[in-house]
Amino acid sequence: MSTPTRQIPVAKPVLGEPEAEAARRAILSGWVTQGPEVAQFEQEFAAFVGARHACAVSNCTTALHLALMAVGVGAGDEVITVSHSFIATPNAIRYCGATPVFVDIEADGFNIDPGKIIAAISPRTRAILCVHQLGMPCDLRQILKIARQFQLKVVEDAACATGSEVLWNGKWERVGRPHADVACFSFHPRKVVTTGDGGMLTTAIGEYDRQFRLLRQHSMNVPDTVRHGSKQVIFEEYDSVGFNYRMTDVQAAIGRTQLGRLPEIVAARRRLAALYTELLSKIDGIRPPVEPEWARSNWQSYCVGLPRQADQVSIMQAMLDRGVSTRRGVMNAHLEPAYHGSGLCRTVGYLDNSVAAQNTAIMLPLFVQMSEDDVRYVVTALEEALTESLVPAL
Ligand SMILES: *Cc1c(COP(=O)(O)O)cnc(C)c1O
Repeated sequence: MSTPTRQIPVAKPVLGEPEAEAARRAILSGWVTQGPEVAQFEQEFAAFVGARHACAVSNCTTALHLALMAVGVGAGDEVITVSHSFIATPNAIRYCGATPVFVDIEADGFNIDPGKIIAAISPRTRAILCVHQLGMPCDLRQILKIARQFQLKVVEDAACATGSEVLWNGKWERVGRPHADVACFSFHPRKVVTTGDGGMLTTAIGEYDRQFRLLRQHSMNVPDTVRHGSKQVIFEEYDSVGFNYRMTDVQAAIGRTQLGRLPEIVAARRRLAALYTELLSKIDGIRPPVEPEWARSNWQSYCVGLPRQADQVSIMQAMLDRGVSTRRGVMNAHLEPAYHGSGLCRTVGYLDNSVAAQNTAIMLPLFVQMSEDDVRYVVTALEEALTESLVPAL
């Protein structure tokens, strides 16, 4: 095959002079670890999602760990979640000494099937860790109903969902108010806004927020910022075994700039996704992602279902030959060596939809710098790849 006319990566962060300026401001201030920029970022993020409290941490994996600890998940407990997620989701449950219990996803999407949750509940179930996969909100209304009925806590893995919205009592609200007990966000470069690495916890419960702030900084009861500003000598104490899960002020300064650009970033992603859906719905056998009428995705990823008889790898290769990078569907943690046959998790049924989604879906390029013409190029590349793969080789 000749050299392709374009090279289209699967994702690309929106970073430029404003972010470089922000990092410079933090560096020249002389305070680079968790300090005033982090405090500002927290306030701005809380206002953005409509949360009472927001606490910044080093990444979303550490956020999930602290959220599960706060809602009381401990050794011997079970937490209901999906296998069909990034491995950080079940890993955070293991950090608490608890067991992830995997239920299947819906047949027409990549989120937990609420209809399968009740069968997964045992006397040891403490919480549900639901995921807004690829930025698409999961069905919180159904999940919260079950949680109330069985007195379970609910943590939202909103790693991908900064800027996504749900229709709640007739009003559009951003994910992270939060609608459950705690929501956890990621600012990894693969998400819609980034601080390099970074995470955020939001909650309406003051006691949880107080715990997050202690545990992210070794359970130090007088923060360094307070000692630094004090006219009197103060000693700190360490009341329990905490962690170093801090975000730095350099990251937070970048995050504040990114947050300011987020509405524009999400609007651009939604326009590109709508064009994909329009073009792809004309191709036989392709299943574009479905957005329920009560959800507005930030389209962190755009993942399409391939025809059942199509070969995922050869389609991805044929697209790469045309300069278009793709990724396979979301992984399934229960099939990875870390969990498979380990006794570290429990699966409810065969997780057919989860397995099918990993093997018969692909993520198409979607990033703000893409032109409409790039979208058309990707769709044509997919169409050609399908035609090639469906013709048996002679
Ligand atoms: C990215 C991601 C995480 C982990 O986020 P980090 O900030 O990289 O720790 C957790 N859960 C899901 C669903 C993710 O996509």
